[in-house]
Order: sequence, then structure tokens, then C-alpha cells
Amino acid sequence: MCNESIRNEFLPYGRQCLDKNDIKSVVDVLKGDWLTTGPKIKEFEEKVADYCNTEYAVAVSNGTAALHAACFAAGISNGDEVITTPLTFAASANCILYQRAKPIFVDIDPKTYNINPQKIREKITSKTKAIIPVDYTGRPVFIDEIMKIAREYNLLVIEDAAHSIGAKYKKKKVGSLADMTTFSFHPVKHITTGEGGMILTNDKESYNRLKKFRTHGIVKGKDVKNQEEGPWFYEQLELGYNYRMTDIQAALGISQLEKIDQFIDRRKAIVKRYNDAFHDFDLLEIPFQTKDIKSSWHLYVVKLNLEKLTVSRKEIFEVLRKEKLGVNVHYIPVYYHPYYQNLGYKKGICPVAEDLYERIITLPLFPQMKSQDVEDVIKIVYKVLNNYRKY
Ligand SMILES: *Cc1c(COP(=O)(O)O)cnc(C)c1O
Repeated sequence: MCNESIRNEFLPYGRQCLDKNDIKSVVDVLKGDWLTTGPKIKEFEEKVADYCNTEYAVAVSNGTAALHAACFAAGISNGDEVITTPLTFAASANCILYQRAKPIFVDIDPKTYNINPQKIREKITSKTKAIIPVDYTGRPVFIDEIMKIAREYNLLVIEDAAHSIGAKYKKKKVGSLADMTTFSFHPVKHITTGEGGMILTNDKESYNRLKKFRTHGIVKGKDVKNQEEGPWFYEQLELGYNYRMTDIQAALGISQLEKIDQFIDRRKAIVKRYNDAFHDFDLLEIPFQTKDIKSSWHLYVVKLNLEKLTVSRKEIFEVLRKEKLGVNVHYIPVYYHPYYQNLGYKKGICPVAEDLYERIITLPLFPQMKSQDVEDVIKIVYKVLNNYRKY
């Protein structure tokens, strides 16, 4: 039975949604004067800031660059410790290493799968400089508790919101909940610019540092120290990078942003259907939800009840792939990667995340999934899991 395939088309776990207006916006820029940092960058920054009810935004070349810039702006440097979660894409911890600081992994909450605020306190030392929580799958972290701890110990909080643009924590939109918030506009995320990222903040000084970092640490005009030199003069004050976004990308972002609420609503409708179909199914656990925290649903991750199954997650995964479901696993705990193992991180430091990692599977979720696609996913998941039922 298991080899009998229902679908004839592979269904990915995520996919961009582009229309004619998106294409036109990009082509219009190609016909104009500005290809890189021009008027579209400013417009995109203002529109995202506005959407998130935040004062300042800085567009950069990708979400990883956004995290790196935020670490720089937060003053993270050699010898500092920065707390983050292991259940994330490597970029959330790599940005700490870029600044020669040390990532400290704090285990996740077994219900929300986000960093466990109670456990943050235990890991704070005199070297701790910042916390980088991640809104895993689109569900905002318990930011009130994290900010309270941060203020108590004088730490900065950079929220990695690559999954959670448009999400709400107690009626407040992600974007100004932490000291700085970073977004990614990679094609699998809510809106895309091909590659792209942004940092949001309400702090003017951080904003200025972010802009400087984006372009080599160079300043012009009134920020130049040596004003006598001449009008051509600019000064490099710090070591920055070329992390600029192009106007071509920003134009796509502006056009995509117009549809963001539609995209999120469609994701929510699909999630509702999944939840209705799966909430009574004893072979898996659906994502945890509470009323005051509204996920923007980047990923739909189910936890397998391995005790009731005759095979491991690996077999289930392989059979689902054979059924042409583009299932995935988010994420391999960051410190499992050989690079981190070579830095001395040992398996066992975050047991909740490690156990969860053995059980999770990401099901397809993206705005233009058809209702029939959603029903196919449900049917196939039931069929495959029931085939491996122990009792
Ligand atoms: C996608 C992602 C990033 C990195 O974004 P890029 O735009 O791919 O550089 C960082 N953190 C998380 C949690 C992500 O999912």
C-alpha cells in the first residue's frame, strides 16, 4: 500500500508566490537610473517599518547580513558571550562568531519549541552581552520575559524574526518588541526579494550604526570628522562590509509587501485545516497555540509519537518523500554541525531540542498551495503513519 502514490507532482515545503505586478516592478527599475541603493531602498525600508509599527529600518543583502549588522550595532565583540537557541538555522549563531564572540546555547521550551526564558538566567555570566531569540516557525518568543531578564542584566536583545514578519505578541506586531529585529526575504520566507534582509529598531544610534556597517563603515557629509578636506571627502570609521540590497530587489520587496496579509491569511487557513485534521491523530502532535501569541506560520512542524510507531523518523521521512511530499526537517541543532563540534560544543547540552530533533517533520505550507494539495498531504500523512502503527 505504501508505495502506491497518490500525487504525481512533487509538493515542496515552501515556495515563493510572484505575480505580474512583481515582475513589472522589477522591470521598471531595470529601465530606470538606479540599480543599487536608490529610491526603492528607502521606500521599501519605510514601508516595512510602517507595516511593523517601528521607527527605523535598514535593508541589507540577506537575513544573515541583517543578523551580523545587528550584532555589530549591539557592540558584540571579541570575548563576549551571546545566548541563542540550538533549534534554528546556523545563521542565528554564525553571526555571533563573525563578531568573534561565543554562542551559548540555551535549551528550548518543550511546548513552544522556542528558547526557554527560565533557562536563560542560568547561562548568564559577566561576559554575556546579548540574547538572540528566534521566533521558530513564525511563533514569537516570550519576549516580555526575555526583555525583563535582559534589562536586569543590561543585555541587548536581537530578535531573529526570519520566520515571523506579520506575527503578533499580545496584539503588538513583531518589529519593535526587542532592541533590534531582523528579517529575511529568502524565497521560502513570507515575502521575497530573491535574497534580502532587514533590521528594524526604534533606537536612532543603532540605526546609524547599522547604516554605516552596511557600507564598509564609511560616512559622508556631516558625519565626517575632517570637514576641511573638501566636498568629495568621506571617511571609513569602522570595519564594515558591502551588505547593500539593490533597488531591483527592493522593488520586488515593495510589490510583495502589498500582498503580505493575504499570504499570511492563506497560511493561517491551511494551518487551520491541518490542525482540524490532525488534532485527534494519536501518532503525531500538532503545533502548540495560545490566544495571545499569533504566529505568522512560516513552517508547519509536527512531532511524531515515536513510541507508537514501528520505525524512526528517517523511514517516515523517506516514505513521505516517495509519496512526493517535500517534507523537511527544521532544524538540525546548530551545535551538531561538524564546525561547531570542532569548536568544542558537545552533544547533550540541550536535551529537549535534541529529543525534539529526532521527532520533527515539516509539512508543506505556502500561500498558493491548492486546497486539494492540503487534502493530499493530510491523506498521505494518515496513510503512511497508520502503516507503521505499533498499537
Ligand atoms: C532564513 C533564516 C536566516 C537567514 O536568512 P538568509 O536571508 O537566508 O541569510 C536566519 N535565521 C533564520 C531562523 C532563518 O530561517
